[in-house]
Amino acid sequence: MALIVQKYGGTSVGTVDRIRNVAAKIANFRAQGHRLVVVVSAMSGETNRLVALAKDISAMPSARELDVLLSTGEQVTIALLSMALEEMGVPAQSFTGGQVHIRTDSAFNKARIVDIDRQRVDEALAQNKVVVVAGFQGVDDHGNITTLGRGGSDTTAVAMAAALKADECQIYTDVDGVYTTDPRVVPQARHLPRITYEEMLEMASLGAKVLQIRSVEFASKYQVPLRVLSSFEDGPGTLICSEDDEMEQALISGIAFNRDEAKLTVLGVPDQPGVAGRILGPISDAGIEVDMIVQNVAENDCTDFTFTVHHNDYAKALGILRQVCSDLNAREVKGDDKIVKVSIVGVGMRSHAGIAATMFRTLANEGINIQMISTSEIKVSVVIASKYLELGVRALHTAFGLDGEKEVSVGA
Ligand code: ADP
Ligand code: ASP
Ligand code: MG
Repeated sequence: MALIVQKYGGTSVGTVDRIRNVAAKIANFRAQGHRLVVVVSAMSGETNRLVALAKDISAMPSARELDVLLSTGEQVTIALLSMALEEMGVPAQSFTGGQVHIRTDSAFNKARIVDIDRQRVDEALAQNKVVVVAGFQGVDDHGNITTLGRGGSDTTAVAMAAALKADECQIYTDVDGVYTTDPRVVPQARHLPRITYEEMLEMASLGAKVLQIRSVEFASKYQVPLRVLSSFEDGPGTLICSEDDEMEQALISGIAFNRDEAKLTVLGVPDQPGVAGRILGPISDAGIEVDMIVQNVAENDCTDFTFTVHHNDYAKALGILRQVCSDLNAREVKGDDKIVKVSIVGVGMRSHAGIAATMFRTLANEGINIQMISTSEIKVSVVIASKYLELGVRALHTAFGLDGEKEVSVGA
């Protein structure tokens, strides 16, 4: 009897009818003889609603209390889904993260799972129940409720699958798999039957929100067979797995973009040893993560230093830089939060030259200025003005031969 961990995202459980629909799917799987652990997200919009409530009360809400608040979203769904299953005659039991001992570190709002004690899950499975687990939440060693960062239910599901050595982890969402790029932005995006952990990790870390990055890290580390499928229509979805010979060796497997970054520049910095550290030191001391970094070639012993941070940290970073600017006798600080990072990803890039040049030429042909560039073995990223996002991604999608034949219909 196969043990399957399934995860249903916010849209899939967004209304009472949809919760019933998920319950019916689960009943069907169970009738086929599978044992099931089901992880659910909060109903769509609920986490955003809770964040907005907190922001109404406080500009900087306590991280601990925010997690107490945000974790309630998933608690609603586990209870409703378990009730819906019971209504259908399927024995089910709901569990919060704490109840199944999803132990995390204490980094509120972005906690990492340390381990999962499978005993309660095993007991419920032995009683022939469907185990319904709240995604996105855990508990630290002091008994505090923690959450795993936005999109964290994916990680709960994969971590559960790893801990239980499940036969497969299925992520049910509002698209029928992973595409060459976000099908909501490029209607010609092509469905990928398979993608490697490595490429999916790169896509996720560069902004493809279909899977949370950590879920892919977990899947890769513990070799969990991971599949992304639609909650609304049948189909094979996309299998995320290790590289094998059967895989189509595309040069570029996908295009990802990230709208969540903002750019900061310190202009006219004296070009001396230690300057990068003096600029970025206070930023990292403030707990702000930096993504891309560019330092211009010095002219007249002065240089410009540019980097990107998450949108949420933009105002804070700007404040810190103004102080740094005066300490360093730099000329000026500039910021731009209307930027987007667009990246092309593919393991095929390792063995092919000229990919970056094609990317730059394609954007130039559309009159799109590239503000920053960064490359690694299997990706090239550029920062461009956010107003060019759709145009740029579509042009690149066509230029790299990724366009599918038919337009995708995106569910819900
Ligand atoms: P859920 O609520 O089920 O977790 P998400 O909104 O987190 O769903 O993730 C699914 C969404 O991810 C899709 O609706 C799609 O817009 C977006 N997405 C971004 N990049 C991709 C991609 N390469 N392939 C498929 N979907 C993508
Ligand atoms: N409800 C959380 C969020 O909206 C977690 C998740 O859906 O995965 O980010
Ligand atoms: Mg998600």
